[in-house]
Amino acid sequence: MLDGVPTDSAIGIQSAYPSPHRRFVPMREIFELRDGDGAGRIGELTVPRAGVTVETPALLPVINPHLRTIEPATLESEFGAEILITNGYILYGSDQFRDRALSEGLAELFDFSGAIMTDSGSFQLSEYGEISVTNAEILRFQRDIGSDIGTPIDIPTPPDTARERTKSELKTTQSRLEAAESVDTGEMLVNAPIQGSTHADLREEAAAHAYGTSLDVFPVGAVVPLMNGYRYAEMIEVVRAAKRGLGTDAPVHLFGAGHPMMFALAVAAGCDLFDSAAYALYARDGRYLTVAGTDHLEDLDYFPCSCPVCTEHTPTTLRECADDRREELLARHNLHVSYRELRTVKQAIREGNLFELVERRARGHPAMVDGYRTLLDDSAALERHDPVSKAAFFYLSADSARRPEVSRYHDRLSRLSVPGERVLLSAGGDNSRFDETWRLRPPFGPVPPALSDSYPLTAERPDRLDREAYEAAARGVSRLVEANPDVQFAVAHWRWPDAALDALPERVDVLELGEE
Ligand SMILES: [Zn+2]
Repeated sequence: MLDGVPTDSAIGIQSAYPSPHRRFVPMREIFELRDGDGAGRIGELTVPRAGVTVETPALLPVINPHLRTIEPATLESEFGAEILITNGYILYGSDQFRDRALSEGLAELFDFSGAIMTDSGSFQLSEYGEISVTNAEILRFQRDIGSDIGTPIDIPTPPDTARERTKSELKTTQSRLEAAESVDTGEMLVNAPIQGSTHADLREEAAAHAYGTSLDVFPVGAVVPLMNGYRYAEMIEVVRAAKRGLGTDAPVHLFGAGHPMMFALAVAAGCDLFDSAAYALYARDGRYLTVAGTDHLEDLDYFPCSCPVCTEHTPTTLRECADDRREELLARHNLHVSYRELRTVKQAIREGNLFELVERRARGHPAMVDGYRTLLDDSAALERHDPVSKAAFFYLSADSARRPEVSRYHDRLSRLSVPGERVLLSAGGDNSRFDETWRLRPPFGPVPPALSDSYPLTAERPDRLDREAYEAAARGVSRLVEANPDVQFAVAHWRWPDAALDALPERVDVLELGEE
């Protein structure tokens, strides 16, 4: 973890909610869902050993005991950190800290009253091929130093690993998880890492296995190379596969994910916990995090941020600071922007506009667009979790036409029966030659008068819509027409593109409205 190893677990909301603010009933008692939007959720993780609950989505700053860029007590008092993560294996092997950790406990060693998660040395194992501790020993050590959430030694299989090797490493990871169940870990919660490289079926299987154990938190592991390589589409594939194997009540940690640019996307896919070594590692070589990517301090003339660091300094004055001081200040900015982004994400979930936030963030980098489009590919899964009513739907780009609200409305159209024999679906006004007139509203399609004021049909749309909006509306028309074989339909459109007109069912009369 400290070195950017992924530890993950992600939670998904599984049933359609009757209302956006319905409370979820968890089966794993440590995790309670409070609110949701898409597959994103606000939850509460109860950490019994620390005697605290942590609100999720949460960020766990990584503490390297030997290199504390920002003291844990400062993370708590100035940044509001409720949870952090450190490496149990580094402490285990440290002449400086091992005995103190055992005698004082981590909370005192770090002067931190929140929850402390520990990693096990899996990263060191994958880097150096061996470590000098067994699975049971490192779990007991984590318990003995007062870790609140410990981790067994799993095998973090990197992306693109051949299937056979992935399967064989997964078998080892699974046996370690099963062994962890029989170790006396007391009140300490235990991570059940989900591996499987970039093989979606193996990830899903690994998740189902992990969920079937008595372990508590579910890190999706070994995704750091995907994030570092801007492979966000594959990252979302991996998360989705893991979520398919987990129940809604499983807290999911995207292990090693600490860049604020992808928080909104990963939360919308159902991740609950993130850990950041990035805030300190990036600061060490002069990198400045933003929600749109990473800048180099040397390239900046202005700070696009109003955190305390960026209001008290200019890029020039920060460059002139001594190395240690500059590193600390950059790390502080990096943390401020990360925590602020998580608050922004949580507020978006509360307001029901997480998709709008993801869509804005996706515009920061083409790879994020791919991640967002991959997320929308599984609109059935998103729809299952998405509240049926929210405050507003903003149509922001062609991608908005693929949001779960649109496909859910199309499903609804296929269950609507239309009164009358001749019905006009009109982009303009009524026409008395028809028994009934429904409005045409891209991207949704036909809207019966009774629903015209209900979400999401009240969507705010630009006047200059894209082709995808009209094509989606045509799909909506098809669903309604198929469901009402005895009704004669006419579509009165206003400058619909040919692709949308071609997608209308054959038996629909098509009229073009004039310019009156
Ligand atoms: Zn700043």
